[in-house]
Amino acid sequence: MANIAFIGLGQMGSPMAKNLIKKGHDLTVYDINQDAMQELVKFGAKAVNSPADAAENNEFIITMLPNGKLVEQVIFAENGIVEKVSKDALLIDMSTIHPLESDAIRNRLAALKIEFMDVPVGRTSNNAIDGTLLILAGGTQQQIDRATEILLCMGSEIINTGGPGRGIRVKLINNFMSIALNALSAEAITLCEALQLPFDIAMKVMSGTPASKGHFTTTWPNKVLKGDLTPAFMINLAHKDLGIALDVANQLHVPLPMGAASREVYSQAQAMGRGKQDWTAILEHCRVCSGLKNN
Ligand code: NAD
Repeated sequence: MANIAFIGLGQMGSPMAKNLIKKGHDLTVYDINQDAMQELVKFGAKAVNSPADAAENNEFIITMLPNGKLVEQVIFAENGIVEKVSKDALLIDMSTIHPLESDAIRNRLAALKIEFMDVPVGRTSNNAIDGTLLILAGGTQQQIDRATEILLCMGSEIINTGGPGRGIRVKLINNFMSIALNALSAEAITLCEALQLPFDIAMKVMSGTPASKGHFTTTWPNKVLKGDLTPAFMINLAHKDLGIALDVANQLHVPLPMGAASREVYSQAQAMGRGKQDWTAILEHCRVCSGLKNN
């Protein structure tokens, strides 16, 4: 069983720390919130007064904090982790932070010969309680092998994201898409309500289409991902349908900012000669606009 320090005992960190204790690990905990620490002490953790004291004599140091500035602070500020951490410890940041902040932290630690992994998690606090988080491991294979047993106390699945810094970047992409899709979904259902359509009927229709299934596993695999842009559904038609929805919404005074922005993307793709290509060619269009491809 491992000696682990856990710093940041909030909605996510508290149940994650409890799951480590349940699996028999020795936990030292630190949080600026005394009540959060006492809750863990009831579970058998040892509470200390600083990140430095938490790090002392522990093999793994886990941080689960709201943002990158705080992660940096608990590691490098006065009474921070680096003051007492042993040279063979592994720091594992499981917070969702800016990738460049994460890189800077890893580089500063590397200069001190201290190992660091970025291991953010997917799913929600309910999964943190159940121990079924999706663990996005960014680190060397050796680090991932070393941490796997303790990571699996908190999650049901570990994805090796392909190297240091990649965990936090995959998390960023996942959250970008999930969060934007939440707003787009809300717009669609608001329009549905304005049209006085029953929600359950709309749900039934959309549950079998890319509207709720997404495109990665439905429309993309046999078209754009294979380089086939011959139209199953043309960009011109997609543009027309988006336009109709926006017009109907406009008449009902329903703002659809996400939908309007999407229509502009399709308009651009048309203007760049893609009108008769498959709608999945929007991926190619975005690649070209970003300079990742020439045409
Ligand atoms: P939270 O605000 O509930 O918990 C943060 C904890 O950090 C609090 O207990 C706070 O007292 C503590 N803290 C703040 N500053 C500190 C410091 N200087 N030293 C020690 N402790 C300090 O946040 P959360 O929901 O547990 O989220 C933690 C991280 O996990 C965030 O980066 C978040 O984006 C990410 N995340 C959250 C969810 C979710 O569903 N809530 C899901 C995946 C990832």
